[in-house]
Amino acid sequence: MATTTKHFVAGEWRAGAGASMTDVNPTSGKPLAEFPIGTAEEVDGAVRAARAAFEGGWRDATPNVRRKLLLKLAQLVADNAQELGRIATDDMGMPWAFTMGEAIFTAEYVEYYAGWADKLDGATIPLSASNTLDYTVHEPRGVVAAIVPWNAPLSLALWRAAPALAAGNAMVIKPSELAPLPILRLMDLIAEAGFPPGVVNCVTGSGSETGASLVDHPGVDVVAFTGSTTTGRRVAEAAGRRLIPVSLELGGKSANVVFADADLDAAAVQACVGCFVNTGQQCIAGSRLLVERSIHDAFMEKVTAFARGFAVGDPMQPTTQMGPLISERQLDRVLDFIGSAKTDANIALGGERLGGDLADGYFVPPTVVTGVRNDMRIAREEIFGPVLSVIPFADEAEAIAIANDTDYGLAGGVWTNDLSRAHRVARAIQAGTVWVNSWLAVNPQAPFGGYKSSGIGREGGREAIDVYLQTKNVYVQLH
Ligand code: NDP
Repeated sequence: MATTTKHFVAGEWRAGAGASMTDVNPTSGKPLAEFPIGTAEEVDGAVRAARAAFEGGWRDATPNVRRKLLLKLAQLVADNAQELGRIATDDMGMPWAFTMGEAIFTAEYVEYYAGWADKLDGATIPLSASNTLDYTVHEPRGVVAAIVPWNAPLSLALWRAAPALAAGNAMVIKPSELAPLPILRLMDLIAEAGFPPGVVNCVTGSGSETGASLVDHPGVDVVAFTGSTTTGRRVAEAAGRRLIPVSLELGGKSANVVFADADLDAAAVQACVGCFVNTGQQCIAGSRLLVERSIHDAFMEKVTAFARGFAVGDPMQPTTQMGPLISERQLDRVLDFIGSAKTDANIALGGERLGGDLADGYFVPPTVVTGVRNDMRIAREEIFGPVLSVIPFADEAEAIAIANDTDYGLAGGVWTNDLSRAHRVARAIQAGTVWVNSWLAVNPQAPFGGYKSSGIGREGGREAIDVYLQTKNVYVQLH
């Protein structure tokens, strides 16, 4: 009998009053837990708890208090990385070695934002009027609603929580119904770190019911959303109706451009890692591989050779590099995309569901599709699966045109040993992050976010805090 989880509100665990859903382990297809679907009343209770904590002292907590609590939380996340990793691996299928690493890496994000808590200074502004003093202060907005997806639950929750808390906000987190368990465990660590009750709350449930109730709640002052562009639009519309700020980290269809003069061995490895890590379920997947025609065949031999060696299997095994897809629905979706390419392109590797010992889980191996045109469905839509679409190009101008011919703008990459070309192409790619001779590097100090339909706002760096603050200008007439 699977355990039933609870909501975390006002520092205590509360049983759900409504219906529940089953959380499934994608490796075995078996139930892991039952979790309550947060009702509108339960969401209201969590928002009220956050408001009470905010107004009851958290808003006025001194910066060093916020810094120390965040540092304690960072230490707890790092200390519990093995357990947090195991919970995440069971819940969403990313290999344990990676989920553990994700926890340690995420602790560094929390540490980084702890450092910002006492550096959010304002400015003194020299006015033209005489005998005046004018200055600004940054104040927290109030209650933040964080909607978190399933593909990296712990880090995507903390990427939102750390800057929001450093800025002095309270929050309510709604995890994805597909992977709520890592975030529920995080709530224990939040309590252990010593955050006052109600500063961080968590209500589980479905997106359409619990998530929508949270976004629509009149007591929410900011919405921080990570997920699909379709849902992001809906969330932004709801926030727009209430005129509250929203930060959106959405999907991508990023182009990884390989020129003939690049280090082709390194480029081949990163083309695979950049697309297949987390079974392709990452917004920054380099899912379109653009290859200069003159090296296409030789380069693709390197890519398929490396991709073939990917260890796919039980994500709890230390040698596994790729686990299952998150759900049966996602499996069907990925296979449908691959099917759509079979007539017009060439499946050079993979392409079928894995059976044998893995038949109970939702496993698809690294799949390489060559001969793709940029107008095909697999080149235009975000697949969120281990599918690399390979598109040849003739020259730099064509590579840039193909890279930018997409609704998305999350990331891009360029592989070349020509310094001028590297900077030219980096400048030309319309995306929030461009990697040169690299892929997947994301760091707490650097801004991360999307151009075009890939989002609004930035995570990482100082910019990530802006959405959680408002600026007050104080004008003083001196006598
Ligand atoms: P969604 O955008 O539907 O889900 C993301 C989050 O939003 C989840 O917590 C979800 O809850 C919640 N949500 C869903 N509907 C609403 C709503 N009306 N109001 C408020 N919150 C809501 O993504 P999916 O999980 O369905 O994945 C579909 C596709 O989205 C993927 O295949 C991928 O292309 C993309 N995606 C991109 C991500 C990224 O990192 N950029 C992350 C996840 C998905 P619940 O899960 O409980 O429904």
